[in-house]
Amino acid sequence: MLAAIIFLVDWLSTLDIAIAVLYVTVILMSEDLVSRRNLMIATLGCGVLTLAAYLLSHVAEWGQGTIWLMPSFGRCLVSFCAIAITGFLALKNKASKEALQRQVHLLNRSEVLLAGAQRLSLTGSIGLKMPGGEMSWSDEARRIFQFDHVVQPTLATMFSRVHPDDVNALKQLIRDAYASQANVDTEFRLLMPDGAFKCLRMLAQQIHDVAGDCEYVGALMDITATKNAEDALHRSQSQLAHVTRVTMLGEMAASIAHEVNQPLSAMTTNAEAGLRWLDREVPDIGEVRSAIERIRGEAHRASEVIRRIRALSRRTDPRHVQIDLHEVLHEAVTLVCRELHRHRVTLDLKPVQGEVAVRGDRVQLQQVIINLMINAMQAMAGMHGKDKTLTVQLSTSNSGNVSLSFQDNGPGISASNLPNLFNPFFTTKPEGMGMGLSICRSIIEAHGGRIWAESELGHGALLNLSLPAIEVSADECN
Ligand code: ADP
Repeated sequence: MLAAIIFLVDWLSTLDIAIAVLYVTVILMSEDLVSRRNLMIATLGCGVLTLAAYLLSHVAEWGQGTIWLMPSFGRCLVSFCAIAITGFLALKNKASKEALQRQVHLLNRSEVLLAGAQRLSLTGSIGLKMPGGEMSWSDEARRIFQFDHVVQPTLATMFSRVHPDDVNALKQLIRDAYASQANVDTEFRLLMPDGAFKCLRMLAQQIHDVAGDCEYVGALMDITATKNAEDALHRSQSQLAHVTRVTMLGEMAASIAHEVNQPLSAMTTNAEAGLRWLDREVPDIGEVRSAIERIRGEAHRASEVIRRIRALSRRTDPRHVQIDLHEVLHEAVTLVCRELHRHRVTLDLKPVQGEVAVRGDRVQLQQVIINLMINAMQAMAGMHGKDKTLTVQLSTSNSGNVSLSFQDNGPGISASNLPNLFNPFFTTKPEGMGMGLSICRSIIEAHGGRIWAESELGHGALLNLSLPAIEVSADECN
C-alpha cells in the first residue's frame, strides 16, 4: 500500500525532489515482516517502481535521447542507490538477526538439555564471584541444597547447609584456592534441615571476566547414593572377609589347638616340677621360682596365640594404620607353623632387615598371608616322595613398593586357570569355596596394592603381592 502511494506521488507529483527515496521506509518496514527472499523481491520491486514512475512522468520525452540527461534522472539514480543500499543493509541485518535467533534457539535447547542432564546426573552448577562472594545457582544446585526458588542463596546460606564438621575445612579450602589461584576439587557433606546427610563432590575452576574480576564456576555432584553403595560394598566385603577368615581358622583348628596345647602342657610340667621342689625336705626356692617364671612365660605364649586367633576371628571394620609388615608376616607364620609341619613343608623365610612400614589393616594382611600359605601347602599336599618347599620373600624396591612373594614347588597352575584365579568362586578343589584369592585381591587393592600369580604347569606357583611403602613415622602407634 505504502509502495503504491509513493509510486503514485512520484509519478503524478510535479515536485522536483527524489520522492522515490521514501521507498526505503517500505524496505525497512518489510524487514521484520517478510522473509529474506521476499525482502529481496520488495527491494527489486521498489527499484522497478522508481524507474516506472520516472518513465511514466516523462512520457513526452520518450524517443528523445534527452530523457537520460535530465536532472530528474539524477534524482532517480539517487533514489535507486538509496533503495539498493537500504535493501542490502536490511538483508544483511535480517541475516544477522536470523543467525542470532538460531543461536538463541540453540542456547535455549542446550539449556533445556543441560537442565535435564543435571537433573539425571544429580549435578548442579554454581558460580561464586570473589572476593565479593555473590553467587549464581542452577536449578539442580538449588534442589541439591534444598533451597527454594524465591530466595537467592548466598555464601552464608550455602555454609548453613554444610555439615558443621566440614564447614571450617571448606571455608579454608576456598580461601586457600583463591589465594593461590588454584582450582577447587573437594568432597564435603551437607546436613539437611530434616537431619539427613548428603555427600557432595565439587569441582570449580577460576575464570576472569573482561573487567578482570575473578569468578569460580563449577559443578556440584550429589554423590550420596554412590557413597552409600561404596559403604555397603565395603561392609559386605569386610563381612565376607570375616566369614572366610573364620572358615580358614576352622581349617587350622588342629594346628591352633596344638599351638595352645603346647604351652599348656609345658605349664603343667613346670608346675609339677615346682611342686616337687617344694615338697623336698628343704624346699629349693630358687628352682621353684624358675619353674614359676617358666610357667609365666608359657602362659604369656598361650595368651599371645589366643590373642592372635581372637583378632582374626573378631569382626571389626578394617583399621588402616602404620604397621610393620615384617611383624605381620612373623605373626602369620607363627599361626601356620604347625600346619606347615603337618604338611611336611619346609618354610624358607627370606625377610629383609629392619622395619618394613606399610599402611594397612593388620588382621586383613595377616589373612592374605595365611591364605596364600595355606593354598601353597594344599597345592603341594598331593606330592609324594619330593621335598616340599615354600619360599616366602619380603623385599623392598626402589620404586617405593614393598613386595611379598610366595613360591612353592607344587604342581603349578595351568595357563587356562591362571586368568581366572582371582575370580570369585573359582576353585579346583573338591571342597573349595573359591573365595580366598578373590578376597585377597580386594583386600590388597583396598590397600592400594596389587596381587598377581605367575606359574607354569609342573613348575610350582609364584603368588606376588606389592604394597605401597610408607616412611616410618615415630608418632603413629600400631
Ligand atoms: P579355594 O582355596 O577355596 O579353591 P582360592 O581362591 O584360595 O579358593 O583358590 C582358587 C584356586 O586357585 C584354587 O582352587 C587353586 O586351583 C588355585 N591355586 C591357588 N594357589 C595355588 C597354588 N599355590 N598352586 C596351585 N594352585 C593354586
